Amino acid sequence: MNQAEQIQKAVLRSLHARDLYTERQVNSMLKSLRAAEIHIKSQLVEIGEKKLLKKGLEIRQGQLHSIQKGIDEIIKDLKRDQTLIMKTAVRDSFQNGIAGSIGEFSELKFPHYENLSHEDRIKLAGQVMSLIDRSALDFLVNYNLQLLGNVTRELVDNIKQQISVGLVTGDSIAKIGEKIGSVITDPAEFRLAGKTVFKTAQQRVEVITRTETLRAYGHGRNKFYNQIGARRIVWATSGDERTCPECGPLDGKEFLAEEMPSIPLHPACRCSFFAARARVCRSGVPVH
Ligand SMILES: [Zn+2]
Ligand SMILES: [Zn+2]
Repeated sequence: MNQAEQIQKAVLRSLHARDLYTERQVNSMLKSLRAAEIHIKSQLVEIGEKKLLKKGLEIRQGQLHSIQKGIDEIIKDLKRDQTLIMKTAVRDSFQNGIAGSIGEFSELKFPHYENLSHEDRIKLAGQVMSLIDRSALDFLVNYNLQLLGNVTRELVDNIKQQISVGLVTGDSIAKIGEKIGSVITDPAEFRLAGKTVFKTAQQRVEVITRTETLRAYGHGRNKFYNQIGARRIVWATSGDERTCPECGPLDGKEFLAEEMPSIPLHPACRCSFFAARARVCRSGVPVH
């Protein structure tokens, strides 16, 4: 195996690890969304039991208000869970980005990086982490929380609307439940499901989580290359991004670090990048 192939293999390996981590975070996010859905549905059952839905029955303002308050509480819990997941995901992804780059250098047996154990790599990544400007990480987290905040705000509004409209028009609990919909983790089932409140929220949460953990990972890699002074960066598509009309042509292209287009290039972009080998190897030290 020549060096280019070795690098490609190492990069694809860390890309795979990155994607596995990302999917775990997506799952955690969907789990919290699903928990909210289950709570909302049990509120619906309660509404049914109180017989608020009998046609012609005037719904007292107070009852509607208490239903809405219950929903606000559920979404507040959801927001708290998602905030925690996102904070951890951004920090971990950033550190994974650093550790991934260190791992590649180690696998390629660059001087100072050869024979690093997994623990050594994590430790080294931790040291780089301790050097970073926390406000940059906080900025990333806050930006992501804003995006997620928009989703939960829309979610709570749409749920309330479906319930109020349902109560007024005398829809059955089942009918209201249908419009609110479910979190669906089976891709085929998801495609077939009609547009619902929870489906829309799920779609957006998935895109945000994938895009933003990948962004944080890229920032981590950047930080490491920056730290060691690697100025020339090579774009690397993942196996399935090689055919993307936007990303495909960038595969293997070399950039000055500050001129590289930011990754992800588009939502669901799974590209990565690495320090240009020519520069890395010339002096024998992956720095200058
Ligand atoms: Zn692409
Ligand atoms: Zn891409």
